[in-house]
Amino acid sequence: MPELPEVETVRRGLAPVMEGAVIAQADVNRPDLRWPFPPEMAARLTGRQVLGLRRRSKYILADLDSGETLLIHLGMSGRMLISGDPLGQFVHTHPAPEKHDHVVLHMDNGARVTFNDPRRFGAMDLLDTATAEQHKLLAVLGPEPLGNAFNEDVLVQAFKGKASPVKSALLDQRIVAGLGNIYVCEALFRAGVSPRRKAGNISQARVRALVPIIREVLSDAIAAGGSSLRDFRQADGELGYFQHSFDVYGREGQPCRTPGCTGTVQRIVQSGRSSFYCALCQT
Ligand SMILES: [Zn+2]
Repeated sequence: MPELPEVETVRRGLAPVMEGAVIAQADVNRPDLRWPFPPEMAARLTGRQVLGLRRRSKYILADLDSGETLLIHLGMSGRMLISGDPLGQFVHTHPAPEKHDHVVLHMDNGARVTFNDPRRFGAMDLLDTATAEQHKLLAVLGPEPLGNAFNEDVLVQAFKGKASPVKSALLDQRIVAGLGNIYVCEALFRAGVSPRRKAGNISQARVRALVPIIREVLSDAIAAGGSSLRDFRQADGELGYFQHSFDVYGREGQPCRTPGCTGTVQRIVQSGRSSFYCALCQT
């Protein structure tokens, strides 16, 4: 499942072919993904210029010159593919249509943007740009982890009196938006905080220290995604899924990477999700 850094990488990959370009034709090949598409979606997209691409949590928002914003959610298995890029960054020409190409945007610059999603947990919607933040998917979100609204004081306040494990608290999208299982595990490892510890029982100093670490973990992953973009363009035009080495995630039974630590990475299940951590250096 793509997390915030992967979605940001997709956004950065789409920006050069979509921003400023006009959607010459929109093919909407089925009535729904996870939810029904909005009425007349193809007609409302056709002929519209893309003014800019933003990201909120794991949603990509394409602001159109009609005053509407196209919301794109990759869900579990959604993929964005670019072909026929006019900037010459892709060697890929337009591929034959595939079974799960649900929405295809033909840009007036010759690029084609395809949303392919075999499991259909993804979503697309059209919202008024002016009130986009009030959309049901966005209104419930807390601050962006990389933005100024997320800071040490906010996290201390959010954790105060919380009996749930810190792992669950950081996955709570109302506390901080866009953090998923992988990067919470990685941030807690870097911070030396056990995922089992109750959020309300962590000292204020350690809670405050979590904030720059969360930012660093996400920024490192976004940087890795950025450096992968060029390769992906040249490979098959698919955006967003890149090899990234994790310190604990997916490393059950392997040696802890903290210098001098003799521990091994353990996996436990919390709220139905795997947590990976080192019991020796995460307390
Ligand atoms: Zn360790």
